[in-house]
Amino acid sequence: MRYDIITIFPSFFDSFKNESLLKKAQDKKLIRINVHNLRDWTADKHKTVDDKPYGGGAGMLLKIEPLVKAIRAFCKSPAHKASATKGKKSRVILLTPSGKQFTQKKAVQFAKKYDQLIFICGRYEGFDARIKKYIDEEVSLGPYVLNGGEVAAMAIVEATARLLRGVIGNVKSLKEESYATEKNLEYPQYTRPEIFEGHKVSSVLLTGDHKKIAEWRKKHVKKSK
Ligand code: SAM
Repeated sequence: MRYDIITIFPSFFDSFKNESLLKKAQDKKLIRINVHNLRDWTADKHKTVDDKPYGGGAGMLLKIEPLVKAIRAFCKSPAHKASATKGKKSRVILLTPSGKQFTQKKAVQFAKKYDQLIFICGRYEGFDARIKKYIDEEVSLGPYVLNGGEVAAMAIVEATARLLRGVIGNVKSLKEESYATEKNLEYPQYTRPEIFEGHKVSSVLLTGDHKKIAEWRKKHVKKSK
């Protein structure tokens, strides 16, 4: 999977890319995370990415021209007439609070169907609305407003990358995780010490009896709302 993230704050992603499982996955060439500065697609000497909204209103909007140039630089999808990713199945995702809410189901779909995800991270008051003609879908991280799309892009990269073969060491853990099935959340888990400030681990978990442990876990699975 190749991720291309278009942002005006590329350094937000420095430690995100270079730590832990995502770093290992890149080292093993299972994923690539490319972060691009939207200002690289501006034409003026001040590298202007924003402008005032027509009709007035608070705040600034990201301008359409650099956004479309950036999309076209990476995306092969015919609608975008682009160049760099020949033969790949790519998806251009506009991050907005009003988009369709991101879920585990969506993460699975992205991981299965595409080998390139392109994220457009907004800032300020958002984008010139004509950007909607150049993207494949709008995705929201949740029903709240963030300062920018960067955190949303990071969440989607993490949630999808860990579903790709080889990224997580123990694939079994993916099957038992929260949301692996439509309604089930993960059962509670404990590690040493056996008793902490009077709070005891269930004795069933200490028996070594795999059948009983599995039954206990099944019983303690929570249901998502
Ligand atoms: N004026 C916009 C509105 O009312 O919908 C909010 C703009 S927000 C301050 C700036 C950018 O952050 C958005 O363009 C979007 O890219 C990103 N953003 C904010 N909340 C988000 C969310 N819940 N999910 C995904 N992206 C979000």
